[in-house]
Amino acid sequence: MVRRVRRLPADDDTCAWIQALPPLPPARRLGGTESADCIVIGAGFTGLAAARRLATQRPNWRVVVLEAQRVGGGASGRNSGFVVDVAHWQPRLGVEGNQRLVRLARFGIAILRELVEAHGIECAWSELGRLHGAVGPIGQRHLVLAVRREYAKAVRPFPGEPAPATASEETP
Ligand SMILES: Cc1cc2nc3c(=O)[nH]c(=O)nc-3n(C[C@H](O)[C@H](O)[C@H](O)COP(=O)(O)OP(=O)(O)OC[C@H]3O[C@@H](n4cnc5c(N)ncnc54)[C@H](O)[C@@H]3O)c2cc1C
Repeated sequence: MVRRVRRLPADDDTCAWIQALPPLPPARRLGGTESADCIVIGAGFTGLAAARRLATQRPNWRVVVLEAQRVGGGASGRNSGFVVDVAHWQPRLGVEGNQRLVRLARFGIAILRELVEAHGIECAWSELGRLHGAVGPIGQRHLVLAVRREYAKAVRPFPGEPAPATASEETP
């Protein structure tokens, strides 16, 4: 059953990244009837990656991406730009579950790296590692428990990956 969508995301026009760009050409609006072999709804990372994959795997298909705002106008165009292999320790998944997430994320990062290289995308790609910081006793407890004991096991390099440098420093 096809449900009619009554509420669409609204752009509050407050994204600094997007506002820093030169003015965008008007978006192509959907009018009349379109036909497609597959429709992807939403042009964020997820939708665009799915559409790209489909276009690569099914070159004869007509793949249409429908976006309520602008391409990348949602969270994908507003984020901080950190491509991380695991953003947060997920306690309920344990070490093994977190390792699976890390593997999946590193697989995704490898694809992204290939795309950046293959298309010469100027996006200041830099693999300098990351720093986890904490403020106050609660944050420090979390850091010691989750990050040093558990998270470190989950994010340690898998066979064939280079070992990361580690350092820790506690500040008052
Ligand atoms: C402030 C901020 C900072 C972040 N920082 C990071 C970071 O540093 N690193 C990181 O990995 N992640 C970060 N994230 C998270 C990351 O940006 C999101 O997880 C990711 O962009 C989600 O992508 P998505 O394609 O699933 O969703 P979105 O990018 O939100 O895309 C969904 C799209 O679907 C469209 N849409 C929705 N409903 C409809 C409809 N009915 N019809 C047509 N179109 C529709 C929306 O307009 C939107 O463009 C951050 C997020 C925010 C908000």
